[in-house]
Amino acid sequence: MGKHILVTNDDGVLAPGLLALVQEMRKLGKVSVLAPDRNWSGGGHVKTLDRALRVKEVQLADGTPAFASDGAPSDCVALAALGYFKEPIDLVVSGINVGANLGHDVTYSGTVTAAMEAVIANIPGIAVSLEVAEGHVGNIDFGPAAHAAGKVVQHVIENGAPPEILLNVNVPFLSDEKIRGFRLTRQGLRVYHSRLDEGVDPRGRPYYWIAGDAPTGVPERGTDIGALAEGFVSVTPLHLDLTAYRALTDLNTWPWDENLTMPFFEMPVQGKKI
Ligand code: MN
Repeated sequence: MGKHILVTNDDGVLAPGLLALVQEMRKLGKVSVLAPDRNWSGGGHVKTLDRALRVKEVQLADGTPAFASDGAPSDCVALAALGYFKEPIDLVVSGINVGANLGHDVTYSGTVTAAMEAVIANIPGIAVSLEVAEGHVGNIDFGPAAHAAGKVVQHVIENGAPPEILLNVNVPFLSDEKIRGFRLTRQGLRVYHSRLDEGVDPRGRPYYWIAGDAPTGVPERGTDIGALAEGFVSVTPLHLDLTAYRALTDLNTWPWDENLTMPFFEMPVQGKKI
Protein backbone atom coordinates (compact mmCIF):
# COMPACT_ATOMS: atom_id res chain seq x y z
CA MET A 1 0.00 0.00 0.00
CA GLY A 2 1.24 3.45 -0.87
CA LYS A 3 1.48 6.19 1.69
CA HIS A 4 -1.30 8.72 2.11
CA ILE A 5 0.37 12.11 1.70
CA LEU A 6 -1.34 15.36 2.70
CA VAL A 7 -0.12 18.32 0.68
CA THR A 8 -0.75 21.78 2.08
CA ASN A 9 0.90 25.20 1.90
CA ASP A 10 0.65 28.78 3.12
CA ASP A 11 0.52 30.58 -0.24
CA GLY A 12 -3.04 29.40 -0.87
CA VAL A 13 -4.45 26.27 -2.47
CA LEU A 14 -4.22 27.64 -6.01
CA ALA A 15 -0.54 28.63 -5.76
CA PRO A 16 1.57 27.05 -8.52
CA GLY A 17 4.13 25.81 -5.97
CA LEU A 18 1.50 23.56 -4.42
CA LEU A 19 0.56 22.12 -7.81
CA ALA A 20 4.20 21.28 -8.55
CA LEU A 21 4.47 19.53 -5.19
CA VAL A 22 1.22 17.60 -5.71
CA GLN A 23 2.40 16.33 -9.09
CA GLU A 24 5.72 15.16 -7.59
CA MET A 25 4.12 13.55 -4.53
CA ARG A 26 1.69 11.63 -6.70
CA LYS A 27 4.66 9.52 -7.85
CA LEU A 28 5.21 8.46 -4.24
CA GLY A 29 1.75 7.78 -2.85
CA LYS A 30 -1.89 8.72 -2.66
CA VAL A 31 -2.17 12.49 -2.40
CA SER A 32 -4.88 14.51 -0.67
CA VAL A 33 -4.83 18.30 -0.80
CA LEU A 34 -6.19 20.52 1.96
CA ALA A 35 -4.78 24.02 2.00
CA PRO A 36 -5.84 27.55 2.91
CA ASP A 37 -8.18 29.41 0.55
CA ARG A 38 -5.90 32.46 0.68
CA ASN A 39 -2.33 33.50 1.40
CA TRP A 40 -1.20 32.97 5.00
CA SER A 41 2.49 33.70 4.48
CA GLY A 42 3.98 34.88 7.75
CA GLY A 43 0.87 33.70 9.57
CA GLY A 44 2.80 31.56 12.06
CA HIS A 45 1.42 28.67 14.08
CA VAL A 46 -2.31 29.10 14.44
CA LYS A 47 -5.06 27.13 16.12
CA THR A 48 -8.45 28.56 15.23
CA LEU A 49 -10.78 27.96 18.16
CA ASP A 50 -13.16 30.93 18.19
CA ARG A 51 -15.02 30.19 14.99
CA ALA A 52 -16.06 27.32 12.76
CA LEU A 53 -13.80 26.24 9.95
CA ARG A 54 -15.29 25.82 6.49
CA VAL A 55 -13.97 23.56 3.77
CA LYS A 56 -14.90 23.75 0.11
CA GLU A 57 -13.92 21.63 -2.85
CA VAL A 58 -11.78 23.28 -5.51
CA GLN A 59 -9.86 22.17 -8.57
CA LEU A 60 -6.17 22.70 -9.18
CA ALA A 61 -5.01 23.99 -12.57
CA ASP A 62 -4.43 20.41 -13.82
CA GLY A 63 -7.91 19.29 -12.74
CA THR A 64 -6.82 17.65 -9.48
CA PRO A 65 -9.62 17.79 -6.91
CA ALA A 66 -8.50 19.62 -3.78
CA PHE A 67 -9.96 21.13 -0.63
CA ALA A 68 -9.62 24.69 0.59
CA SER A 69 -10.31 25.83 4.13
CA ASP A 70 -10.68 29.30 5.57
CA GLY A 71 -8.25 28.37 8.34
CA ALA A 72 -4.50 28.70 8.62
CA PRO A 73 -2.07 26.10 7.22
CA SER A 74 -1.78 24.54 10.69
CA ASP A 75 -5.59 24.40 10.87
CA CYS A 76 -5.63 22.51 7.56
CA VAL A 77 -3.22 19.94 8.98
CA ALA A 78 -5.27 19.68 12.17
CA LEU A 79 -8.45 19.11 10.15
CA ALA A 80 -6.78 16.33 8.17
CA ALA A 81 -5.10 14.77 11.20
CA LEU A 82 -8.40 14.76 13.10
CA GLY A 83 -10.19 12.86 10.38
CA TYR A 84 -11.41 15.17 7.63
CA PHE A 85 -10.29 12.52 5.18
CA LYS A 86 -11.58 9.05 5.85
CA GLU A 87 -8.13 7.48 5.48
CA PRO A 88 -5.44 8.40 8.01
CA ILE A 89 -2.59 10.66 6.88
CA ASP A 90 0.89 9.08 6.82
CA LEU A 91 2.89 12.14 5.86
CA VAL A 92 2.37 15.90 5.61
CA VAL A 93 4.30 17.86 2.99
CA SER A 94 3.93 21.64 2.95
CA GLY A 95 4.94 23.93 0.10
CA ILE A 96 6.46 24.64 -2.25
CA ASN A 97 6.70 28.06 -0.67
CA VAL A 98 7.78 31.07 -2.69
CA GLY A 99 10.69 32.32 -0.62
CA ALA A 100 13.12 30.52 1.66
CA ASN A 101 12.31 29.86 5.32
CA LEU A 102 15.61 30.14 7.12
CA GLY A 103 16.78 30.75 10.67
CA HIS A 104 14.18 32.60 12.74
CA ASP A 105 11.78 32.55 9.78
CA VAL A 106 10.55 29.16 10.95
CA THR A 107 8.48 30.74 13.72
CA TYR A 108 6.71 33.08 11.27
CA SER A 109 6.35 30.67 8.40
CA GLY A 110 2.96 29.13 7.68
CA THR A 111 4.78 26.60 5.52
CA VAL A 112 6.93 25.40 8.40
CA THR A 113 4.24 25.64 11.08
CA ALA A 114 2.04 23.34 8.98
CA ALA A 115 4.80 20.73 9.33
CA MET A 116 5.01 21.54 13.06
CA GLU A 117 1.29 20.81 13.38
CA ALA A 118 1.90 17.44 11.72
CA VAL A 119 4.54 16.59 14.31
CA ILE A 120 2.12 17.54 17.10
CA ALA A 121 -0.32 15.07 15.54
CA ASN A 122 2.42 12.40 15.45
CA ILE A 123 2.67 12.51 11.68
CA PRO A 124 5.99 13.12 9.91
CA GLY A 125 6.10 16.67 8.53
CA ILE A 126 8.22 18.15 5.77
CA ALA A 127 8.28 21.83 4.78
CA VAL A 128 9.62 22.78 1.36
CA SER A 129 10.54 26.34 0.38
CA LEU A 130 12.19 27.75 -2.71
CA GLU A 131 14.59 30.63 -2.41
CA VAL A 132 13.18 33.25 -4.75
CA ALA A 133 14.82 36.65 -4.90
CA GLU A 134 12.71 39.52 -3.61
CA GLY A 135 11.25 41.35 -6.59
CA HIS A 136 11.62 38.37 -8.95
CA VAL A 137 9.51 38.95 -12.03
CA GLY A 138 8.05 36.28 -14.27
CA ASN A 139 7.29 32.61 -13.94
CA ILE A 140 8.99 30.55 -11.27
CA ASP A 141 10.28 27.09 -12.19
CA PHE A 142 9.29 24.87 -9.26
CA GLY A 143 10.71 21.76 -10.96
CA PRO A 144 14.06 21.57 -9.14
CA ALA A 145 12.41 22.19 -5.75
CA ALA A 146 9.78 19.53 -6.53
CA HIS A 147 12.51 17.03 -7.43
CA ALA A 148 14.37 17.83 -4.21
CA ALA A 149 11.14 17.39 -2.23
CA GLY A 150 10.58 14.05 -3.95
CA LYS A 151 13.99 12.81 -2.86
CA VAL A 152 13.51 13.94 0.73
CA VAL A 153 10.07 12.33 0.96
CA GLN A 154 11.40 9.13 -0.57
CA HIS A 155 14.10 9.03 2.13
CA VAL A 156 11.47 9.55 4.80
CA ILE A 157 9.26 6.80 3.37
CA GLU A 158 12.18 4.37 3.18
CA ASN A 159 13.86 5.18 6.50
CA GLY A 160 10.99 6.50 8.59
CA ALA A 161 11.07 9.99 10.02
CA PRO A 162 12.89 10.60 13.29
CA PRO A 163 10.19 10.82 15.99
CA GLU A 164 8.98 14.31 16.93
CA ILE A 165 11.08 15.86 14.19
CA LEU A 166 10.07 17.84 11.14
CA LEU A 167 12.34 18.49 8.21
CA ASN A 168 12.69 22.05 6.96
CA VAL A 169 13.84 21.85 3.35
CA ASN A 170 15.06 24.93 1.48
CA VAL A 171 16.01 24.80 -2.18
CA PRO A 172 18.26 27.31 -3.96
CA PHE A 173 16.87 29.09 -7.01
CA LEU A 174 18.96 27.07 -9.45
CA SER A 175 18.39 24.51 -12.19
CA ASP A 176 18.62 20.77 -11.43
CA GLU A 177 22.09 20.71 -12.99
CA LYS A 178 23.36 23.65 -10.95
CA ILE A 179 22.13 22.35 -7.59
CA ARG A 180 25.19 20.79 -5.93
CA GLY A 181 23.37 18.29 -3.70
CA PHE A 182 21.97 18.10 -0.18
CA ARG A 183 23.35 19.43 3.10
CA LEU A 184 22.09 18.63 6.59
CA THR A 185 22.13 21.94 8.41
CA ARG A 186 21.26 23.83 11.55
CA GLN A 187 19.35 27.12 11.69
CA GLY A 188 21.45 30.09 10.71
CA LEU A 189 21.15 33.68 11.77
CA ARG A 190 18.61 35.69 9.82
CA VAL A 191 19.08 39.45 9.74
CA TYR A 192 15.82 41.35 9.47
CA HIS A 193 15.61 44.83 8.02
CA SER A 194 12.15 45.76 9.24
CA ARG A 195 11.20 49.39 9.42
CA LEU A 196 8.04 51.04 10.68
CA ASP A 197 6.21 53.07 8.08
CA GLU A 198 3.77 55.49 9.65
CA GLY A 199 1.09 57.38 7.83
CA VAL A 200 -2.50 58.55 7.88
CA ASP A 201 -5.18 56.52 6.14
CA PRO A 202 -7.90 58.06 3.89
CA ARG A 203 -10.24 58.18 6.91
CA GLY A 204 -7.75 60.31 8.82
CA ARG A 205 -6.60 57.60 11.19
CA PRO A 206 -2.93 56.87 11.79
CA TYR A 207 -1.60 53.54 10.56
CA TYR A 208 1.61 51.61 11.09
CA TRP A 209 3.01 49.24 8.54
CA ILE A 210 5.90 46.88 9.22
CA ALA A 211 7.95 47.49 6.09
CA GLY A 212 11.59 47.47 5.09
CA ASP A 213 13.83 45.34 2.92
CA ALA A 214 13.75 41.56 2.68
CA PRO A 215 15.73 39.72 5.37
CA THR A 216 19.29 38.71 4.67
CA GLY A 217 21.38 36.32 6.73
CA VAL A 218 24.81 35.23 7.86
CA PRO A 219 25.95 32.57 5.36
CA GLU A 220 27.87 30.54 7.92
CA ARG A 221 28.96 27.07 6.86
CA GLY A 222 26.85 24.33 8.43
CA THR A 223 23.73 26.50 8.51
CA ASP A 224 20.67 26.57 6.28
CA ILE A 225 21.67 30.03 5.04
CA GLY A 226 25.21 28.87 4.29
CA ALA A 227 24.03 25.80 2.36
CA LEU A 228 21.77 27.83 0.08
CA ALA A 229 24.53 30.38 -0.50
CA GLU A 230 26.74 27.54 -1.71
CA GLY A 231 24.07 26.08 -3.99
CA PHE A 232 22.98 23.12 -1.87
CA VAL A 233 19.52 22.02 -0.83
CA SER A 234 19.34 22.60 2.93
CA VAL A 235 17.63 20.01 5.17
CA THR A 236 17.26 21.14 8.78
CA PRO A 237 15.70 18.80 11.34
CA LEU A 238 13.59 20.82 13.77
CA HIS A 239 11.88 19.86 16.98
CA LEU A 240 9.26 21.69 18.97
CA ASP A 241 11.15 21.48 22.26
CA LEU A 242 12.34 25.07 22.41
CA THR A 243 13.90 24.66 25.87
CA ALA A 244 17.25 26.40 26.07
CA TYR A 245 19.11 23.57 27.81
CA ARG A 246 22.35 25.54 27.85
CA ALA A 247 20.68 28.29 29.90
CA LEU A 248 19.40 25.97 32.63
CA THR A 249 22.79 25.54 34.32
CA ASP A 250 23.34 29.30 34.55
CA LEU A 251 19.80 30.06 35.62
CA ASN A 252 20.04 27.42 38.31
CA THR A 253 22.74 29.48 40.07
CA TRP A 254 20.24 32.30 40.66
CA PRO A 255 18.68 32.38 44.16
CA TRP A 256 15.21 31.36 43.07
CA ASP A 257 13.91 29.99 46.30
CA GLU A 258 15.69 29.96 49.63
CA ASN A 259 14.01 26.73 50.66
CA LEU A 260 15.25 24.99 47.58
CA THR A 261 17.99 22.59 48.48
CA MET A 262 18.00 20.54 45.31
CA PRO A 263 18.33 21.79 41.76
CA PHE A 264 14.84 22.63 40.62
CA PHE A 265 15.35 21.06 37.27
CA GLU A 266 16.82 17.86 36.00
CA MET A 267 19.21 17.97 33.14
CA PRO A 268 18.07 15.73 30.32
CA VAL A 269 19.49 12.25 30.22
CA GLN A 270 22.57 12.29 28.04
CA GLY A 271 21.83 11.22 24.52
CA LYS A 272 18.13 11.67 24.95
CA LYS A 273 17.76 15.37 24.41
CA ILE A 274 19.72 18.23 22.88
MN1 MN B 1 4.27 31.61 1.78
